[in-house]
Amino acid sequence: MTIFKKIIDKEIPADIVYEDDICLAFRDITPQAPQHILIIPKKEISSLNKVTSEDKELLGHMLLMASEIAKKINISEDGYRLVINTNSHGGQSVNHLHMHVIGGRQLSWPPG
Ligand code: AMP
Repeated sequence: MTIFKKIIDKEIPADIVYEDDICLAFRDITPQAPQHILIIPKKEISSLNKVTSEDKELLGHMLLMASEIAKKINISEDGYRLVINTNSHGGQSVNHLHMHVIGGRQLSWPPG
């Protein structure tokens, strides 16, 4: 079981900013910017590699949530970045699909 599943099950605490039947959003414990939120599906999917066409609605839902959360935490206008790290080269450290919403400062590009 991953740490994110334990957060979903409320076995360990998290600073939750949004929750519905499909997804959960909470603040990253090691923020890389003034605003750093993680959006995860409640369904256990280990990475973006494992999604199927059955997950279309869920994936769309996660993007809509990102847009709504960005508005709610006031980073929409200045801008922000969505990141889904996948497997080793992507730097994925928790094997439960998650999308980073990062903002609140100027972000550099390209990534290192
Ligand atoms: P990734 O490296 O893309 O797999 O991202 C995993 C993220 O989860 C990292 O940014 C961690 O800081 C974050 N993280 C790990 N454990 C927790 C936790 N208990 N609560 C909130 N964020 C966490």
